[in-house]
Amino acid sequence: MNESFRAIPSVDTVLKSAAGLAAIDAYGRTEATARIRLVLDAERKSAREGRSLRDAEAVGALALSQLEASSVGSLRPVFNLTGTVLHTNLGRALLADAAVEAAAEAMRSAVALEFELETGKRGERDDHLRSLICDLTGAEDATVVNNNAAAVLLTLNTLAGHGGGAIVSRGELIEIGGAFRMPDIMARAGAKLMEVGTTNRTHEKDYKAALSQEGVALVLKVHTSNYRVEGFTKEVEAQTLAKLSAAAGVPLVNDLGSGTLVDLTRWGLRPEPTVGEAVREEADIVTFSGDKLLGGPQAGFIVGRKDLISAINRNPMKRALRVDKIRLAALEATLKLYRDPDRLAERLPTLRLLARKRDEIAAMANALKPHAVRAAGGLFQVEVVDCASQIGSGALPLDTLASVGLSFRPVDGSGSAIDRLATALRGLPVPVVGRIADGALILDLRCLEDTAAFAANLDRLSDGLA
Ligand SMILES: *Cc1c(COP(=O)(O)O)cnc(C)c1O
Repeated sequence: MNESFRAIPSVDTVLKSAAGLAAIDAYGRTEATARIRLVLDAERKSAREGRSLRDAEAVGALALSQLEASSVGSLRPVFNLTGTVLHTNLGRALLADAAVEAAAEAMRSAVALEFELETGKRGERDDHLRSLICDLTGAEDATVVNNNAAAVLLTLNTLAGHGGGAIVSRGELIEIGGAFRMPDIMARAGAKLMEVGTTNRTHEKDYKAALSQEGVALVLKVHTSNYRVEGFTKEVEAQTLAKLSAAAGVPLVNDLGSGTLVDLTRWGLRPEPTVGEAVREEADIVTFSGDKLLGGPQAGFIVGRKDLISAINRNPMKRALRVDKIRLAALEATLKLYRDPDRLAERLPTLRLLARKRDEIAAMANALKPHAVRAAGGLFQVEVVDCASQIGSGALPLDTLASVGLSFRPVDGSGSAIDRLATALRGLPVPVVGRIADGALILDLRCLEDTAAFAANLDRLSDGLA
C-alpha cells in the first residue's frame, strides 16, 4: 500500500507535465491546481482500494478534461424543435441581426444613454424609443421597463397604488405561466381589486355599477392571452370601456400581453389585436411585452397619455424596473425594422419563422431524413410527418400553424426508449429539444434554419444512444 501511495505524483509534478501546462494555459494556475488536487484526492482513494494509478501526465490529462467539461456555459444555445416559436423556457424571441449588432456595439462602448449630443445636457433614457414607438402605435407618449409584468405592476402602482380600486372583469383575472397572477400583482402594486361580472359573462352594467362606487382609480382590461372563454360568453369592448371610464373620470388601462405592432394577416396568420388598435380604441394606457410577437429582447412597454406616462416616470419604482443600454439598443434596432413592413418577415426572425410555409419545412424534413435514420440506428422508425406548431407565449393559444417534423417511433414501442432518445438529443453538442406526442418523439422543423449544423449535430447521436 505504501508503494502505491509513493507512486502518486505531487501537485507540482502534475503542473509541470504537458497536460498540466496546458491546463494552466487555458484556465489559469489557481483553477488548474485546484482541479489537480481533486484528481489526486481521488487517486489516493483508488490507492487505498488497491487499484492501478495514473502517472503525472495522466492525472494532468484527466484534470484538463474535467476543466473543459465544467467550462461549458449553462446558458447554452439549443435547437428549439418543440414547435413552439416563442418558447418562454427557451428564451422567447430570437433577435434580428440588426438588433444583435446594435446590442454588441452598445456593450463595447460608451453611448449617449442619458445625454443630449446637441446640447451636451442630460437627456432621457426613454428618448431613444419614444418617437419610434409613438409613430408605430399612434400613442402620445411611451416608456419602457424590464418586462410586461413590470409594466403592469408599475402602471397599477402609479395610478392606484394607495389602495385605489382597480376594476377588472372576472373573466380576465389571468395567470400567465410562473408567478404572474393578476390578483397578486394587484395586491403588490397596492391597488384594491374590484372584480366585476362572472367568469364567462361581464356586461356594461357591471362596470357601470362598479364605477359608481367610491374610490375607483382605474379600469383594467386584460387580454386573455393564453386561454379563451368560449360558448355562452360576453365581454365589454375596449371602446365602450373607454367611454365608461372617461365619463367616470378614471383611466382605462389595457394589458395587451403580446405587443403586435402590425397586422399579421398579411403573412397568413390569424389576426391578433395590435397596439395601434388598442390606442385607437382610446385606452389611456396600453402595456405589452418586447419579446413576444414584437420579436425583440425582454422588455415591457407602457404607451399612452402623456400626463399618465409622466406620472409613471416619476414613480420611484421606475428606477428599479428600467432597462439598460444593451436592451435599449436592441429594442431601437428591432423597432426600426417595422418601418419597412415589406422586408419585415425577412429580417425579424419571429415573423420569419411564423410565416414559414409548410412546403418549405417539408423539403427540409425530407432532406434531413437520411441523417435521422442513421442517427436512430435501427432502434426507431423514422418518418416525415405533418404536425402543428404554436406561436407560444400566450399569443393566439388555440391557433396552430401547419408544419412538418421528423418522428422517431421506438421499434419496440417502449416509452423508456423515447425517454432515452430525448435524453441523448439533449446531450448532443448543441442540445436538441423536441416534443413527445402519441408514443413518438417529434422534432418540428419550423424553427430550424441552419440545416447543415443540425445534420452534423445529429450525426453525433448514435454515440449517445449506444
Ligand atoms: C405575457 C403577458 C404578461 C407578462 O409579460 P412578460 O413580458 O412575460 O412579463 C402580462 N400580461 C399578459 C396579458 C400577457 O400575455
